[in-house]
Amino acid sequence: MAKVLVLGAGISGHTAALYLSRSLRRKHEIVMISPNSNYQWVPSNIWVGVGLMKPEQVKFKLAPVYKKAGIDYKQALAVSIHPEGDKDIEQAYVNIKYVSEEKEGESEKVTYDYLINATGPKLNFEATAGLGEYSNSVCTYEHAAHAWKNLEDTLQKMEAGQKQTILIGTGHPLATCQGAAFEYVLNIAFEVHKRKLSHMADIWWISNEYELGDFGMGGAYVKRNGYITPTKIFTESILKEYGIRWIKRAGVQKLEKGKVYYETLDGEKHVKDFDFSMLIPGFAGSGMKAFAKDGSDISDTIFAANTMMKVDADYTPKPYEDWKASDWPLIYQNPIYSNMYASGIAFAPPHTMSKPMQSPNGTKIFPTPPRTGMPSGVIGKVVAQNIIHQIKTGKKDHPHEASMATMGAACIVSAGYGLFKGKAAVMTVRPIVQDWEKYPKWGRNIKDTVGVVGTAGHWMKLFMHYMFIYKAKAKLFWWLIPE
Ligand SMILES: Cc1cc2nc3c(=O)[nH]c(=O)nc-3n(C[C@H](O)[C@H](O)[C@H](O)COP(=O)(O)OP(=O)(O)OC[C@H]3O[C@@H](n4cnc5c(N)ncnc54)[C@H](O)[C@@H]3O)c2cc1C
Repeated sequence: MAKVLVLGAGISGHTAALYLSRSLRRKHEIVMISPNSNYQWVPSNIWVGVGLMKPEQVKFKLAPVYKKAGIDYKQALAVSIHPEGDKDIEQAYVNIKYVSEEKEGESEKVTYDYLINATGPKLNFEATAGLGEYSNSVCTYEHAAHAWKNLEDTLQKMEAGQKQTILIGTGHPLATCQGAAFEYVLNIAFEVHKRKLSHMADIWWISNEYELGDFGMGGAYVKRNGYITPTKIFTESILKEYGIRWIKRAGVQKLEKGKVYYETLDGEKHVKDFDFSMLIPGFAGSGMKAFAKDGSDISDTIFAANTMMKVDADYTPKPYEDWKASDWPLIYQNPIYSNMYASGIAFAPPHTMSKPMQSPNGTKIFPTPPRTGMPSGVIGKVVAQNIIHQIKTGKKDHPHEASMATMGAACIVSAGYGLFKGKAAVMTVRPIVQDWEKYPKWGRNIKDTVGVVGTAGHWMKLFMHYMFIYKAKAKLFWWLIPE
């Protein structure tokens, strides 16, 4: 009997665990370690952040789903990985700390034959002074509910005749997840307009992107109405339509009450006042440590500098001009310990997709790579499929691959809510990481790299909310729904 341990019940780890359960549950053991007793469909937190959904609509309890799927669920945090065991335990294990009410604070060593690290990002608020304290976030349903409470106050002040400045964007010079912040700013503009308060609101987008529409992918050329349009134009035209002004090439350095301090790529320092802000923090790895059998700390060999786990990528430092699509990992296997994988945001990318840039003061200001839900789910599935293959056949090969330099992704930025009131900008790209060797003209396959604005995309987003929650609940034929 083999034992597969999954760390993190997010989009990637939960997907992996369900596929493992489907194929292995009768003869093998699957264990999930995750601190939050709820699963959350993170993309819908945007709607929680504008008061259109309640947190209850985007989350559900994990324990009943795992019971049904035959997965042993421990509500705990993974603290350290011991891939060689230690002097007392011969087998690889992960040290966990329970956070559940019944066992809070207790530790346990959970052994494994295969490990999937899917611990996602640590929301690194500490990396920007005052971030989170003076700004809002929509990265979790709790954050989003809190953001809505503050946004509601802001809307009420507008109704009472007070002009308000709203600032949305990235809260760290190297932050990613511009897509989520972009969706939030459009939703706010939509709500303000719906309440006939546009004349009372001064809405701003602030971003570390060199040009708008970079989205951490180095931008893209999209096919739109028969024309090839850079995402810069696509994005700027949407912001203009919604009456949103912007600040680009901005590395947010600190916040105080109602003030954000930032540096721009030209080295200038600025201050922007605001009444309400939502700024995405920088992302880091979950902060787990790793130890060898003799107890020595091997975290630096297992994890990259950003504390995300190293996998089968080419991490050799090289200039931007020499980056290749083949630098990106295929199977997400740790190069030292072959039974250890990192999926979703937990794996360390070989480099960014956007060109690294710095100000004359040496401040690095550019987006780090986005790892959106679709690739996170696909990677979780592929890692699970390879482990299933190895367990069932006894072979050590990996028949399934999922490179971000070949797979496509869809990004739906929806504003408004309901069947008739919403509108969305839909962007599909293939591949996610540009491949200038294969596609020398546009960096991507222009046939599959498309931008559309309209109501259909909005319906798709709404439909996806229900479809992915259905799938995550492992209901009948869940596996027929793609990631
Ligand atoms: C507001 C917002 C909107 C978004 N909208 C979209 C969208 O529209 N489309 C899209 O494709 N993507 C979207 N994304 C991105 C998408 O949510 C992520 O790509 C996806 O959640 C990443 O999946 P993951 O499993 O790697 O990480 P997560 O989903 O973050 O899951 C990580 C899990 O690991 C757990 N964990 C953390 N530390 C530990 C530990 N030490 N031990 C055990 N478990 C741990 C966490 O509790 C969590 O359950 C959005 C993101 C945000 C923040």
